[in-house]
Amino acid sequence: MNSASSDHAVPRGPMPSCAPSAHTADFVVIGAGPAALACALWRARHGRVFVVRPEKASSQTDAAWIEAVPTRTIAELVALGIHPHDLGVREFVHTRAIAWRSPEPEIMDTYPAAHLERPALEHALLALAERHRRIDFVPHDALASWSQAGPTRAGSGTYIIDASGRRALTATRVHRPRRPWIARTFAVECDPRRGVAPLMVAALPNGYLYRAAGARSTTVGVVGRGSMLAGSGRDVCLRLLDSTARWAVVDLAARAWRSIGSRPASLQWAEFDNTVAIGDAAFARDALSSQGLACSLADARYAAHVANDHDRQALAERSRLACESHAAALLRMAREQWCNTGLWRYYQAELGALQAAVRGMPLRAADEAPRRHERSDLTFTSSIEARRQRRPLEPGTPVSSDRA
Ligand SMILES: Cc1cc2nc3c(=O)[nH]c(=O)nc-3n(C[C@H](O)[C@H](O)[C@H](O)COP(=O)(O)OP(=O)(O)OC[C@H]3O[C@@H](n4cnc5c(N)ncnc54)[C@H](O)[C@@H]3O)c2cc1C
Repeated sequence: MNSASSDHAVPRGPMPSCAPSAHTADFVVIGAGPAALACALWRARHGRVFVVRPEKASSQTDAAWIEAVPTRTIAELVALGIHPHDLGVREFVHTRAIAWRSPEPEIMDTYPAAHLERPALEHALLALAERHRRIDFVPHDALASWSQAGPTRAGSGTYIIDASGRRALTATRVHRPRRPWIARTFAVECDPRRGVAPLMVAALPNGYLYRAAGARSTTVGVVGRGSMLAGSGRDVCLRLLDSTARWAVVDLAARAWRSIGSRPASLQWAEFDNTVAIGDAAFARDALSSQGLACSLADARYAAHVANDHDRQALAERSRLACESHAAALLRMAREQWCNTGLWRYYQAELGALQAAVRGMPLRAADEAPRRHERSDLTFTSSIEARRQRRPLEPGTPVSSDRA
């Protein structure tokens, strides 16, 4: 599974006959995930929007993987014109089963949450965006016309919103653990007549397991590193049945586990010079928090109202502060985990280094221009160029990778 997008996340409408010039464009959104499409839809209420589609269609399957969001996110989606039933949401869930401080699960009351079918959300947002008369989908090469005309600046009239997910296309610097943990996810069909089970989380010696049930299928994610992620769905299920997390999977038939892919699940934070970054591009949360989608959709609404450079910097500061407190909360959780093995201690060290890197960033006043911003108008173009040449992260690469 690749960063939460599907084939259906790629616009299938006809391409415009020519790329718009920088002079006609004032609001450009990069990406076709939930943050990008929601931002385009909010902004289109006030003006024209160009959405830059991904270079390549994702090989994502259509498997209905489930993500949990609070009720306020559902309210925002309704305001955009999406009915919860279209996302497979029939009821709200009020409890969670968590085995963290001990191998035994605790049942906890929580804020009401909806477990939605993520591909259905992308279909619904895309259908709305494709129908909107003020939204134009443009091919990826159209970005060059905006970057050649100069980066986004106060007064230039053009705002580029980077919603490209963990790819963080226009970032100048990306902070992430050297060895991010990977989430391998499985879909297990379930009886739609049964009520929706609570979200379940169980700590394991080399990572953790989460289970999110939807109306029609259940997603099981195994997050961590090494052999716990290997093998077929049946192999993974049998290993879990033999572990302390048995309670979370014992009612799911091993033969029904269908692998729906793998994606990075650790915290990532990126710095940007001139673009406004939202969603996972700005700051991708650890999957343990189950908050990334909700927060990405909230970012989208803020970014749709960006009107000057102060707003842009305020959004960047907001994401930096959110990242810092998220890292602190994660570190606390990692230390409270009942089986503090070497892999967990290594992860704690990486989180600590990342937290220090983010904390060490100087706070910027809204009217203080970032240094790199002054340095070069070519930053935007060169960061795209750097991305094209970028190789996968090698073991031993420092915790922050400078892209500029
Ligand atoms: C295992 C796991 C479980 C999770 N569970 C939950 C949960 O229960 N609840 C929750 O709230 N969150 C959850 N999340 C987090 C949530 O999935 C993300 O926060 C959310 O997908 C972020 O949305 P986005 O639009 O910012 O990024 P994405 O969904 O990654 O979308 C980015 C888009 O940009 C496009 N793109 C990439 N490169 C380019 C390019 N060069 N040009 C143009 N477009 C490009 C991609 O194709 C994609 O369409 C989970 C994450 C993981 C890893």
